[in-house]
Amino acid sequence: MNLADVQPSVLDPAWSHEQVMARVTAIANGPLADAAYRIDHEGHYPLEIMAQLGEAGAFGAHLECGGRRFALALDAMRAISRSCGSTGFLTWCHDVCGLYMEQSGNPALARSVLDDHVNGITFGGTALSNPMKSLAGIEKMLLRATPVKGGYQVSGALPWVSHIGPGQYCGAIAGVYRDDGSLSHEIMFLLRFTDDVVLRPCPEFSGMEGTSTWGVRLDNYFVGEDSMIADPARPFIARIRAAFVLLQAGMAIGVAQGAIESILEVEPVLGHVNQFLHDRPDVLQAEFDDLGARVMKLAETPYDGSKDYLLDVLDARTQGAEFALKATQSALMHQGARGYLMNSAPQRRIREAHFVAIVTPAIKHLRWEMARLSKEEMPA
Ligand SMILES: Cc1cc2nc3c(=O)[nH]c(=O)nc-3n(C[C@H](O)[C@H](O)[C@H](O)COP(=O)(O)OP(=O)(O)OC[C@H]3O[C@@H](n4cnc5c(N)ncnc54)[C@H](O)[C@@H]3O)c2cc1C
Repeated sequence: MNLADVQPSVLDPAWSHEQVMARVTAIANGPLADAAYRIDHEGHYPLEIMAQLGEAGAFGAHLECGGRRFALALDAMRAISRSCGSTGFLTWCHDVCGLYMEQSGNPALARSVLDDHVNGITFGGTALSNPMKSLAGIEKMLLRATPVKGGYQVSGALPWVSHIGPGQYCGAIAGVYRDDGSLSHEIMFLLRFTDDVVLRPCPEFSGMEGTSTWGVRLDNYFVGEDSMIADPARPFIARIRAAFVLLQAGMAIGVAQGAIESILEVEPVLGHVNQFLHDRPDVLQAEFDDLGARVMKLAETPYDGSKDYLLDVLDARTQGAEFALKATQSALMHQGARGYLMNSAPQRRIREAHFVAIVTPAIKHLRWEMARLSKEEMPA
């Protein structure tokens, strides 16, 4: 396909899966692969590449404007994560933020505001780790909202939120408390990083340094109608939860795919001795194919509200995280000293895979949720 034949302005639902993937893959294998070291080691936040990916149609396939093609959104995230796990994570943050805006049904978060987001003209992420854990009963809600004329005032602090910065935004949730201190309900809103929001630098992470991750402090931040995603938030979260988790599988699969390729790269020189290792490329490739097919099947019905479907998504996401850990460790074992070099892709992917395993929902959180849901199903 001639890439110039495709209008490079806004995402068009008429673009085929192949057309979008040709454009996304060209960026992922070109400028993104070249920048991966700088992103990982120098903390470069690759907004210029995110803008190109937006223009290529990477960020809207799962939305109405992209034809509601979750499989395509996942495939794009896979191709991006294969070259750079940090940018794969930025893609997920951006994709779910777009999902919140669209699913809110709020006209103030639709049309040109959503178009700019989808096309990589503006950027925003998600601050839902703490609320997701809070709603699952794992920890306390960190943001508190007080009703005021025309909306709410929100205060509190979140330790780390990625893909944000001055002029950007993210989806956030706050608990609304009654005068007696009891919880009334939660609200979900688009938090805009205007001058009255304090961004605090985070300590240095072992990976994901290029994801523009900040601590966020809010003091009586006003949330009006134009920023409201859902009030109350719980029914909204119940509706989008499976899609939120399922999309993360794109990161896991992409990082694992890069790892398998690193193993194959050294097969001609080290295959004679590597044959004695576990998790050989043919074994990993078989699991990659199985997991990919499983995720693509689940991607056909992202708004299936059943408990069985959610359990299946949580299980597939867990499998993805465990598979990424296994594949990246195997790649380092296969590459030996080459893979242990500080600037090697296998070494970077080990840290990327560990992030996939600890980012909310972390493996332990996923297992907690699956245990809880399964218990609910047991007869009294
Ligand atoms: C690089 C990076 C980027 C992230 N980006 C986002 C994002 O975009 N949006 C988002 O909502 N979440 C983000 N998170 C949070 C992430 O999703 C997890 O919630 C977090 O890694 C903790 O997960 P856990 O469930 O394993 O909690 P645990 O590690 O078990 O910890 C329990 C609680 O203690 C807190 N905690 C643990 N250690 C520290 C510490 N040193 N300082 C402060 N608090 C601590 C945790 O936040 C958590 O609430 C990011 C985390 C990292 C490391």
